[in-house]
Amino acid sequence: MPDWPLAAWHRKAVAALAAYIQNHTPPGRELSSSELGRSSSPSRGWRISTEVNGQSFELDIIVDLHFPFSLPSIFLVGQDRFLSWPHVEQSGKLCLLPEHAGFEISTDVRLIDHLVQNARDLIRQCLDGSNRADLATEVISYWGAGLNDAKVKRFWSILKPVGPTRSIAYWEGQRFVLLAETAEKGRTWLEHFKGEFTGSRFSFSSGIFLWLPAPLYPEQYPANNTFLREIAKKLGQHSVDVLVKVIKSSQEGFPVVFGFDVGQDSVLAGAWSLPLNHSIPHHNARSSLTRGFRSGKIPPAVIARRYLASPGVLEKRRVQRCDRAWIHARGGDAKAARHVHKRIMLIGCGALGSQIAELLAQGGVGRLVLVDHDTLSWDNVGRHILGGPGQVGTNKAEAIGKELQQRFPELDIVAAGRRWQDVYQQKEQLFRECDVIVSTTGDWASEAALNLLARRSPHFPPVVFGWSEAYACAGHAVAVLDMGGCLTCGMDGLGTFQHSPISWSVTPIPQREPGCGGFFQPFGSIATNPINAMIASTALDVLEGTIARSHHRLWVGSSEALTSHGAQWSEAWIARYGEIGTGERVYRLAWPVQEHCPLCQK
Ligand SMILES: [Zn+2]
Repeated sequence: MPDWPLAAWHRKAVAALAAYIQNHTPPGRELSSSELGRSSSPSRGWRISTEVNGQSFELDIIVDLHFPFSLPSIFLVGQDRFLSWPHVEQSGKLCLLPEHAGFEISTDVRLIDHLVQNARDLIRQCLDGSNRADLATEVISYWGAGLNDAKVKRFWSILKPVGPTRSIAYWEGQRFVLLAETAEKGRTWLEHFKGEFTGSRFSFSSGIFLWLPAPLYPEQYPANNTFLREIAKKLGQHSVDVLVKVIKSSQEGFPVVFGFDVGQDSVLAGAWSLPLNHSIPHHNARSSLTRGFRSGKIPPAVIARRYLASPGVLEKRRVQRCDRAWIHARGGDAKAARHVHKRIMLIGCGALGSQIAELLAQGGVGRLVLVDHDTLSWDNVGRHILGGPGQVGTNKAEAIGKELQQRFPELDIVAAGRRWQDVYQQKEQLFRECDVIVSTTGDWASEAALNLLARRSPHFPPVVFGWSEAYACAGHAVAVLDMGGCLTCGMDGLGTFQHSPISWSVTPIPQREPGCGGFFQPFGSIATNPINAMIASTALDVLEGTIARSHHRLWVGSSEALTSHGAQWSEAWIARYGEIGTGERVYRLAWPVQEHCPLCQK
């Protein structure tokens, strides 16, 4: 087999490690291949013994074929400390560094020595109990240990990860179990997710969410329904009542979610409660709950008592959060949490508009109103977020609406496949309810009309006009607010922008489609990406209130791109704002009222 380029590093590092083992006090020994069998792609391993707090421990140091470009693994030998000591895996492997930790790549043994010291420190902390809280903070690793993800359906949760204890709704599908606050919320989510509106096809039953005042430690993990009953009792009569109610309505088993705070975060751990012992097939469950009574005649209270009197089964399940707060900010971004209640209208769902819609949906904006009368065609696909079956040949706004709704089932997405002027005449309210309107139609007449509306209608939302210049050499976002200039302030009477940073030696003529009046600007998605991001972030800044008066954001592309298109930076622009240099940056500029503007002069 040919020696691969990094093999020399591996040999040198392994030789240094072997020497380190020999020099260790007492000297270690190399592991046999049968002893190495347990690790996935082992190369070599050694065993050393070391003393901590007067006790002797044996550690295996194992490296794989990638070493020193992979971390050596250190195992605690001959002791079953899984779930009683933190950072010890079932195999005995010690978690000494985070998974993606940076570490020194070298062929000497400083890293090994450092890891052995870390292992000794970890054992010392485990012996004196000073790191015990880690068993609670890393609950997700311990809770899910031993679960076969391929066989056990996960819980997908759109629950609010906060107390109090309450009954919840669940739907069981082929691949997952959805947990929601109510059947109605769950059904809406499923209809969005599956992209089909089927009314009441999804049937929901009841489960329970138990909110615990303190984290669960592994020795407290509930193993059966007796524990479930004990936990509910400890939480108080309300929790017992909720549990009994859930059992009465879901007698053949139901999902249980335990929620609790760990530091700043809340954690959800799931389980499936079944009424009988594992050894008895589940289909008998009901008969043993109802024995001695004629069908339908058993009092629900008896069922609940029998359910909780037998230990039954509580199978652990992983909970995958897919609630809005988690998806858009992984539970942490305060900005995204505020966007949940905000509404943005996008007029124009083309090259710029579609990408901006996607960015805003990812940013967690609660409601998106998408407006475009145009149909998606194959020549749009290169710079649009959509394409392919079911999308080409359909209305752009409606197709994006469907796509984003499936990807973000908790967002409220409204699609109007008409001209905005028609939407405004039929449903003016849709405009007024928005916090910001973003227009990327690039159509002067349309934007002039929208600008006029924004200037003349009381309580009209702020409008952000966004566009790209030819070849995406520069892009603009002009936010028009009550204070400051309007779009017309920056235009001449024919809609030519007066503040371009580019001067063209030959004015670029839009490329012509073989048809009357069909023109388009040639630019690709990569070139416009920074412009889309700038327009989206301008809209979010207006939402956030960080932009309080009209404002101009300008992206300039690279000077090389500019010169390759036979253009240069405008001398007038430079005289006013300074050298652009190599470009590729965003300017934030004032957008004052201009004296010539017929709309701003009262
Ligand atoms: Zn104006």
